[in-house]
Amino acid sequence: MNYKTIRLRRGKEESLKRFHPWVFSGAIETMEDGIEEGDIVRVVSSTGEPLGTGHFQIGSIAVRMLDGSDTAIDEDFYRLRLEKAWKLRESLGLTADPEAAFRLVHGEGDFLPGLIVDIYGSTAVMQAHSPGMHFARNTIASALTTLDGGRVRNVYYKSETTLPYKASLDPQNQYIIGGFETDIAIENGLKFRVDWLKGQKTGFFVDQRDNRSLLERYSRGKKVLNMFCYTGGFSVYAMRGEAERVVSVDSSEKAISLTEANIALNFPEDKRHTAVAEDAFKYLSAMQPGEFDLIVLDPPAFAKHRGAIKNALRGYQRLNAKAIEKIAPGGVLFTFSCSQAISREQFRLAVFSASAQTGRKVRILHQLTQPADHPVNIYHPEGEYLKGLILYIE
Ligand code: SAH
Repeated sequence: MNYKTIRLRRGKEESLKRFHPWVFSGAIETMEDGIEEGDIVRVVSSTGEPLGTGHFQIGSIAVRMLDGSDTAIDEDFYRLRLEKAWKLRESLGLTADPEAAFRLVHGEGDFLPGLIVDIYGSTAVMQAHSPGMHFARNTIASALTTLDGGRVRNVYYKSETTLPYKASLDPQNQYIIGGFETDIAIENGLKFRVDWLKGQKTGFFVDQRDNRSLLERYSRGKKVLNMFCYTGGFSVYAMRGEAERVVSVDSSEKAISLTEANIALNFPEDKRHTAVAEDAFKYLSAMQPGEFDLIVLDPPAFAKHRGAIKNALRGYQRLNAKAIEKIAPGGVLFTFSCSQAISREQFRLAVFSASAQTGRKVRILHQLTQPADHPVNIYHPEGEYLKGLILYIE
């Protein structure tokens, strides 16, 4: 293809040959004149051997590879990748319900670096994390509407906070195809109101689906505290799992009203649920020991980058120590970290320190991760971010 060329320094082709999808800026020897941010580029080794095609951007990650060959990056390219992504979700059983919520594209995990697409029934919410994907947004949106006989009728583009600020792309959050139809989507037979216009991320955390199902199985007869509840996902499952009582806590008033709406949607007039707008640390400090026997801790990413790791680990330790200290004997704690910068081992060590601090006997029952519609490309381990433990506390 006629794309401009980026030549790598000697030896720097190795990681691409092992299928890692990023070229770091330090690996570049020369760039052809006129390459601009967001352009599709050809990448070659120091000897001129073709290594593939990708999106160029300014920053530490300079190229996100789209393909290992000199292929054209056009509507057919995106359509084929999206069809593959759809097929995987189909084989996971996620597409069977036309109103289902699931992730269709998980960036590098679906060989589309810089792109996230979540499906909520007939609406796709699309997020670009790279200028290249921003420029391709209309092509991708139109390819989305060809999937599964035209099931996606609306595409909402939401990249105001995900694109590099310095690129000055000024993306507008808006429908680029269709418009508003309904904001109700189904997960495992439960209804959720998804606010992609004002909510966090694409409006709903589809990544906790499997872990919520697991919580449902632990809920019968339990007093459940869902901390950092956001849209109340875990709470709705606990209600269906016949919990005796469910309390949802989030510091955001907006999250509390979303949670209340979702409980009412599935369990109208059910008095077992209460929602509280309060800071998590304050709530945990003030609650009575033994008040809850099933607690969920699903905080926002404490470490958004590597520099913040130390403080984040302290945060996880402090939070978990409070919950472990107060949970009823024989209690079960679901505890998570969605910080990509923190490894599974580091998180487990923070929870270990928290346990040791309380002196209680703690056992690990399950080790949790992200669901199969958030696949991790084995050559790109950075794609793994969600970590969780289910603990049994004597
Ligand atoms: N468990 C949720 C997702 C949690 S997202 C789900 O299954 O969908 C993280 C949530 O933590 C956000 O809703 C945010 O408002 C809330 N939050 C952030 N800081 C907080 C704090 N200090 N105390 C309580 N909630 C907080």
